[in-house]
Amino acid sequence: MLRINNMTTGYGMADVLHGFDMELNKGEIIAVVGANGAGKSTLMRAISGLLPLKSGSIKFNGKDISKVSAHTRVDQGLVQVPEGRQVFGPLSVVENLTLGFFSKRKQGKTQLQKRLEYAYHLFPKLAERKGQKAGSLSGGEQQMLVIARALMSDPSLLLLDEPSLGLSPLITEQIFEVLVELNKNGLSILLVEQNAFETLSISDRGYLIENGNMVLNGDSKQLLNNPKVTEVYLGNE
Ligand code: ATP
Repeated sequence: MLRINNMTTGYGMADVLHGFDMELNKGEIIAVVGANGAGKSTLMRAISGLLPLKSGSIKFNGKDISKVSAHTRVDQGLVQVPEGRQVFGPLSVVENLTLGFFSKRKQGKTQLQKRLEYAYHLFPKLAERKGQKAGSLSGGEQQMLVIARALMSDPSLLLLDEPSLGLSPLITEQIFEVLVELNKNGLSILLVEQNAFETLSISDRGYLIENGNMVLNGDSKQLLNNPKVTEVYLGNE
């Protein structure tokens, strides 16, 4: 579904990712783990189209999307939940969700209603707070809202950048449970995290990045037992 081939990208003269390869098959949850500054967010920006490639390619459903704009990628079903809970604070929960439906607005009100109901089913907290200003939600609720907003356009591949950042273990667990449910319903997921153990526990396969290089990849269960992964985890404690 997603294939990254020999990709180099970065900022200005500085390359962050060097000759990076990665693959995600339809229906998988893929984990990308690595320490602070390893290049995880850079990878996400390149996939979602916010950062141009210097070389290499990204293919989505067999088509080269390396030069396709970010909003066209969203239309094609590739949607990123940005790092750091970017909600529209003065707007209500339902207004935030409705904005996530913008690219699908031609589908009309009935479809909008269906997507809203699905969001509320996944995150009942959001249903309780649908009229509340997004800026007044707790950190965990804001994270739920940005995920739910991304789902409003009915993506086929969801990219998540550190959804657990700053959240309690309990809220993180709730959010990860929803990701597993979404995956069972057919959504493919690319999950970038410093939180290596939890992430590898819910994913099928994983990649470990160090200083912009992919140093390990494989079955998540095997990676969980790899000392290099433990090192990254302990380095973040
Ligand atoms: P974190 O979890 O801290 O966000 P990360 O693995 O996501 O870490 P990146 O944010 O991708 O890492 O950063 C990788 C490298 O790119 C770092 O050295 C960082 O300083 C650099 N970098 C990130 N964003 C920019 C930018 N806008 N301009 C220049 N350099 C950047």
